[in-house]
Amino acid sequence: MLSADFEIYRHLQTYKGWIYVLITMMLLYILISRMNTRIHNATWESLKAMKELKRLAYYDTLTGLPNRTMFVNKIKNLARSTRGKFAIAFFDIDNFKYINDTMGHYVGDDFLKFLGKKMSIELQSPNMVARLGGDEFAILFKDYETKENLLNILERMKNNIGNTWNSGGREFFISMSVGVAVFPDDGYDFDTLFKHSDIAMYAAKKEGKNKIFFYEEGIQNEAIRHMHMANKLQKGMDNKEFELYYQPQIELETGRIIGMEALVRWNHPEEGFISPAEFIPVAEITGQIYDLERRIVEKALTQKKIWEKEGLDDIELSINLSSKSIISNLNFRSIELLFSDFDIDYQKIVIEITETAAISDLDAVIERLNTLKSKGIKIALDDFGTGYSSITYLKKLPIDIVKLDESYIGEKDSSIVKFVVSLAHDLGFRVVAEGIETSEQLNYLTGVGCEYGQGYFIGRPMCIEKISELLDEKNIV
Ligand code: C2E
Ligand code: MG
Ligand code: MG
Repeated sequence: MLSADFEIYRHLQTYKGWIYVLITMMLLYILISRMNTRIHNATWESLKAMKELKRLAYYDTLTGLPNRTMFVNKIKNLARSTRGKFAIAFFDIDNFKYINDTMGHYVGDDFLKFLGKKMSIELQSPNMVARLGGDEFAILFKDYETKENLLNILERMKNNIGNTWNSGGREFFISMSVGVAVFPDDGYDFDTLFKHSDIAMYAAKKEGKNKIFFYEEGIQNEAIRHMHMANKLQKGMDNKEFELYYQPQIELETGRIIGMEALVRWNHPEEGFISPAEFIPVAEITGQIYDLERRIVEKALTQKKIWEKEGLDDIELSINLSSKSIISNLNFRSIELLFSDFDIDYQKIVIEITETAAISDLDAVIERLNTLKSKGIKIALDDFGTGYSSITYLKKLPIDIVKLDESYIGEKDSSIVKFVVSLAHDLGFRVVAEGIETSEQLNYLTGVGCEYGQGYFIGRPMCIEKISELLDEKNIV
């Protein structure tokens, strides 16, 4: 009996043992499988995070293209390892700033995305396109063969990207300046290559934009000088270093002030006064003229309003407009808008233009000048006698005033000057002589029938405080 009980007890103990083992195994199984999922999830998460970090470090978030870091690394590695040639093409969008400034950043971003996409579609392996920042793109051509071949590829790319881009019902002209530098001919390391492609790009811009230039020794000096000026100019604009001076224009017979010509002045904090003859041509090349000119027009019109409030309603204000601003339709429209913003007497506003604008696209220029004239604004043809000075322009352009260039003053044969003045009068223009420096010159001009003039003898361009004093006196000479 006792032995039977013992036998049952022993079995029970065995079962219990097995049950313990089973439960422990089940618990272990659950524990391990849970840990596994956690480890798996953790590895997946960190892999994803690493991938994301890599994307942020090496790719541009807007266009999805490789960014500057990736581009630089690729070229540095290639320069170290390759025995062959390769090329860097540096792209700068000529009119991007305009799109961004007038249409806002969202539209600007869309434009960059569009370009990024188009460029990568156009590109063939093993080449790589990157966005370096802002409106700057660059392509690494690993399969470089010859300049001619690369030029063909780049021309084809530009053509396929197209000439225009549409947004919100508006059409934008796509204009890109491209500079190319070739390894090892134009540099052995990234910095030199990049600097040289930048110089070539700048030279392309200077040649009238929308061009492709290969780096050459010769293009360096002038391009560098211009580049420095362009950088300085940007800082100058950011720091508001520009102001307007005004030069009086008078009726020669009576000395009565009839108007003022607004002339831009740049007072650089270190270099002092820099002449507009030096920076305006650079601003025209870089496109900075558009921004600068909008500010000049705004400032000048604000001043006109002040004069009107002070009772000086009859002062006519002349503003110089670069031919670039007239030729570029978009920029012209934005300046034209400014002329509607001010509640002033537009009959007393004169826009001075030079013949260069008319030469490039006569019909468009005529149409644009007429829109200004419909507001009452008068048009003056500046520096008459220096350029082509064809009578055709005098007849075709909707001008009201001819500004005789100062070179006419030195003219020994007064019959020529007399003829020009009477011709201008016959065509119905007012004639204003420029650069009168002596009383003899003033008398000479009066003698040939010229009725208005300006120049150092009458009054230099002056800051607004000095001009206000002068206007208080009213008459000079
Ligand atoms: P401009 O429009 O023909 O202006 C007349 C230039 O002759 C001015 O030079 C003026 O200071 C200078 N001047 C005036 N009287 C005399 C004189 O008696 N003798 C001599 N030798 N010169 C005299 P500035 O201010 O240096 O401007 C040079 C040019 O730069 C201007 O020629 C104009 O084409 C351009 N510019 C000046 N301001 C502006 C501007 O606001 N916008 C644009 N687009 N161009 C401007
Ligand atoms: Mg002028
Ligand atoms: Mg002039």
